Amino acid sequence: MKKKVTLLPGDGIGTEVMNAAVKLMHHVASKYDLKIETTESLMGGCSYDAHGTPLTDETIQLCFESDAVLLGAVGGYKWEDLEHHLKPEAALLKLRKSLGLFTNIRPAKVYPSFVNSSSLKDSVIRGTDFVVFRELTGGIYFGEPRGYDENKGFNTMVYEKHEVERIAHQAFKVAQQRKKVLTSVDKANVLEVSQFWRKTVKEVSKDYPDVEVINMYVDNTAMQVVRDPKQFDVIVTSNLFGDIISDIAGMITGSLGMLPSASLGEKYALYEPVHGSAPDIAGQKKANPIAMIASVGMMFDLSFGLQDAAIKIDKAIEITLDQGYRTADINLDNGNVVSTDTMAEKIIENFDKIL
Ligand code: NAD
Repeated sequence: MKKKVTLLPGDGIGTEVMNAAVKLMHHVASKYDLKIETTESLMGGCSYDAHGTPLTDETIQLCFESDAVLLGAVGGYKWEDLEHHLKPEAALLKLRKSLGLFTNIRPAKVYPSFVNSSSLKDSVIRGTDFVVFRELTGGIYFGEPRGYDENKGFNTMVYEKHEVERIAHQAFKVAQQRKKVLTSVDKANVLEVSQFWRKTVKEVSKDYPDVEVINMYVDNTAMQVVRDPKQFDVIVTSNLFGDIISDIAGMITGSLGMLPSASLGEKYALYEPVHGSAPDIAGQKKANPIAMIASVGMMFDLSFGLQDAAIKIDKAIEITLDQGYRTADINLDNGNVVSTDTMAEKIIENFDKIL
């Protein structure tokens, strides 16, 4: 099997975590008879410096021609005062829009050796492992009309049927491969748009009779995620609610340096860590590569259909953490502090042991 991957390391620690994760990517691919051809391009501040724009049409075209895109992170002090559309972060929105990425997927999984660093107590957090599907291109963040004047401010929360159906199908398919329980989060007791969301998810559920659907109000979900996170397996929700729920879910399970994500559209897929370019530690080999490596794991699963590879990458991360290896950001228990590259090498070594 052959696949094309576009690499967009970006700025700051983006390049460091990308280098570490790409080594692992090729290593894992070689074990599954998969040949990955990579093309690297600039995005963010480095692209602005070279081309006067944070994202060129050529880079977008490269992404169109790929089976998947891996993104490091963009931004930094140097570009903070640029006009809004020239800032590195503007490239993120433009790329997601160009690729039609309508679903953002964020896992919330706690590794056993990190149970004590969660803000929740051991008995509540241990064993937590769920995924949040957040609608990314619709809802109140994009709805029209919007605006404000001296006397009022207003936004519009609107969902069309196809927008709800396509993310629901994605979430149901993943639920089928997991524990077959899907929680659809809304505010149907107050909002008509949520009543429509709930009705549409119910219709889609007829295609997935083996998956149980639980409807939950968003305020209750926020409470339940911190009260008993183990009850969740797959959550699907709208843009605004997902923005909040996925941040809560990420933070109860670990550090920013460990949170991966995937963004999927009809044709294209982008994988990136949740964290930014961390200019405060850039160039010091201190960056934690786990979020980027776990994003590569999601790529093997969701874009290449190699769920086994994804499970083993995850297991290798878990073993490496159990062995006490830490990057500085997660060294809460006086572990063995290693550099970005060493952490990645240890994960590769452990991957080989469980193969
Ligand atoms: P950040 O995520 O870059 O950093 C926040 C803190 O977490 C910093 O102290 C940093 O050192 C630490 N950190 C983050 N990732 C880490 C890792 N992998 N290993 C070790 N420590 C890590 O957020 P910020 O400081 O608010 O933003 C810095 C720049 O990144 C800004 O320009 C911002 O706009 C940009 N940003 C980009 C993205 C993206 O590219 N998707 C996301 C968020 C922020």
